[in-house]
Amino acid sequence: MGEEGRERSRWRGVAVGAAVGDALGMPLEFGLASHPRALIRSMRPGRLPAGHFTDDTELALAVAATLLERGYLDPDDLAQRFAEWYCSEPPDVGVHTQAVLSRLAAGESWEEAAEAVFRERPESAGNGALMRSWPVALAFWRDLEALRQASVLQCRVTHRHAECVAACVFLNTLLARLVAGANLEAALETAFVQASPLPAGLAHAIRLAPRRRREELRNTGWVRHTLETAVWSLFNSHTFEEALIQAVNLGADADTAGAVTGALAGALYGVEAIPEEWRTALHGEYPLKSGHNWGWQDLVNLADRLAMLQAQP
Ligand SMILES: [Mg+2]
Repeated sequence: MGEEGRERSRWRGVAVGAAVGDALGMPLEFGLASHPRALIRSMRPGRLPAGHFTDDTELALAVAATLLERGYLDPDDLAQRFAEWYCSEPPDVGVHTQAVLSRLAAGESWEEAAEAVFRERPESAGNGALMRSWPVALAFWRDLEALRQASVLQCRVTHRHAECVAACVFLNTLLARLVAGANLEAALETAFVQASPLPAGLAHAIRLAPRRRREELRNTGWVRHTLETAVWSLFNSHTFEEALIQAVNLGADADTAGAVTGALAGALYGVEAIPEEWRTALHGEYPLKSGHNWGWQDLVNLADRLAMLQAQP
């Protein structure tokens, strides 16, 4: 495989990896961490059938749709798609996202809605914007400054907290550098530069993550915990499969940890490294109730279109 083929494999790995991780974590969400000698290694049913992706992937597909149709990150169009998704009665929606999207659905602008919810709970720094951010990384992977601007805007449509915004820039830079072929250590250093100044607590958590012990990881819906889990999982495994098994078996916010770790591990190892039985089990619907069903090959096609977009913010 030439370098172009390897890049293609890595960007496809981001999209398929994120959705596979989401589906693998789905039945483990809100649970306790699995016993280290009894880790779940297969797609299992939970609130949804085995292999079904959740809101993490549905909202990422909304981000992807706006990028492909508009050619750039248009926050008004994105907010409209989020509101339509919210009105289609999704089975699950995060607390902070629900608060913003209910206001959007009632006719507020995204600026008003995101600001009002931020004022109501200024300490809330959930992972709801991080989990859907990977399509921005694929659309702007060749231009880190455009990537930074679009990542900030994508986040701020719902999440205003500085830690959420920085986490989205950090993750997307990391994904872009991995797609370009950088090794994990070098990609992390570029991400620290591009996302600077990183809030101190977030920077500390990411720096310490590789050396954390499994029992120390909380894996809650706090954006800091999600990045911590993802970085820890990558440093404490040698394959796509093992990284994902480590992440989702922490329980708690297992599907979002799976989605973020899956995007990163897919960029690191390429789409061929994703176990075939996981890929073929993967499915979901977007838009909801549209009859438009997605399998892993549809995510491959979507990733190709995003990565070739070379969009401007
Ligand atoms: Mg979810």
